[in-house]
Formats: sequence, structure tokens, C-alpha cells
Amino acid sequence: MRVPLVAGNWKMFKGVADAVAYAKEFRALAKDLTAVELVIAPPFTAIHGVADALRNSGIATAGQDCYWEKDGAFTGAISAPMLKEAGAALVILGHSERRRVFGDTDADVSRKIHAAYAAGLAPIACIGETLEEREAGRTFEVLDTQLKAALDGLSADQFAQMVIAYEPVWAIGTGRNATPEQAQEAHAHIRGRLRAWLGAEAADKCQILYGGSVKPDNARAILQQPDVDGALVGGASLDPQGFFQIASAAV
Ligand code: PEP
Repeated sequence: MRVPLVAGNWKMFKGVADAVAYAKEFRALAKDLTAVELVIAPPFTAIHGVADALRNSGIATAGQDCYWEKDGAFTGAISAPMLKEAGAALVILGHSERRRVFGDTDADVSRKIHAAYAAGLAPIACIGETLEEREAGRTFEVLDTQLKAALDGLSADQFAQMVIAYEPVWAIGTGRNATPEQAQEAHAHIRGRLRAWLGAEAADKCQILYGGSVKPDNARAILQQPDVDGALVGGASLDPQGFFQIASAAV
């Protein structure tokens, strides 16, 4: 049985004071929600404060990206060991906004995944097709390419800590979510590939999250799908009450 995981990606929203107040409120709301793994990914500046406010709550803190070098002359970059020291336990990598806005390639995502493991962070590896790719019937091909790159060179022990997020690009921040059937189809495909490439045991244990306009009113139907093991929530995670409702729907 896979434990559901619900992660909130705050993107570039919330300063430190707002983030810490949210963390305290959410911690109190979710104190009995022990059947779901919960993760909050604030902006870099708020990671330390949020991790501190969530200490011993069972709710983990994540980075939204990292650079693959440990340190050096890389102005504006944050490394995986820096995230770890600030209190993060996971890091989101390969998000479509990183790929589209900042030009992250599959090879970059792979380097970042290895850097995350080296620092003791679990990666949440995001994959997903654009609308154009879906309409051209290329969804599975795109998912396979991105997934292969994310898995490149990983040991079985490393893969066991990886979370995969299927995030169709056309559903992110658009208010247009995948139907439960579309999500299940993609997730079943991903799990099938994991089974073929890494074996049934590894595939059956892997948490595959859906992300893309998940809201309190559509979460339950998506999360009920057999291969959907949780959600990566952007906009709707900015409100602690709404995020709590989504997390509760994963039980
Ligand atoms: C995301 O940022 O990962 C995401 C899924 O965003 P939204 O929920 O706003 O579509």
C-alpha cells in the first residue's frame, strides 16, 4: 500500500512572515492527518523559517529547485546542500516552469537529481507534456523521454526515495485540470514503464503524484484513481484551509 503524499508548491509567493504564519496555521489544522505525507515547498528565503515552524510535526519542507554544483561562482543559484542545511528534506526538480522559463533541460534535471541525492534530499521529479504534444499524440513519448532522463544512473536505493509528479503543462495554473481518466491513463503508463525498467516491486512502491489545477472541489475524484498516489498543488496550496481540504481528500 502506497501512503498518499500531498505537496504544496508555493512558487514565487509568500515572504518569510506570511510563510511562517501559514506553516503554524497548517500544522494545527493537519495535526490529525497522519495517513497522508505532507510537504510544503516555499520560496528559498522562507525554507528555514517554515522548516523551523514545522519541526517535529511530520510535515516536511521542500525546495522548489536547486543547482547541481555544491558551491562556487554561480550568482543567484542555491545548491542542494544549502537547501538541506536550511531544513529541506525534499526538492522539486524539473517543474515545467523551470523548464519553460529558465530553460532547464532533461540533462540539467538529471544533474540536479544526482546533486539532491548527494546532499540527502529526496527529489520530486516532474514530467509532463505540453498541449501541443498531447494533441499531436506524443504524450507517452514525451513522458518516456523525461522519465528516462530523471532515472538515468540511479541506484535502486536512490529510486526508492524518488517521488514522481505527472504534471501536464496545459493544466498548470490554467484552471483546466486533467480529467480523472486522463490522469489515471498517464499514471498507469508511467508505472508500467517503471515496472518494465526497474521491476514490479520498485514500480509498485513509487509514489506518483498528479499536478495541474488541483482544487478542493476536484481533488477527490483525481486522488481516487488507483495509480494516483497524491497531488502536487500549486495555486490552491497558498491558502492553508484549501490545502488542508485537498490533503484530507487524499485519505
Ligand atoms: C504546480 O505548480 O506544480 C501546479 C500544479 O500548479 P497549479 O496547481 O496552480 O496548477
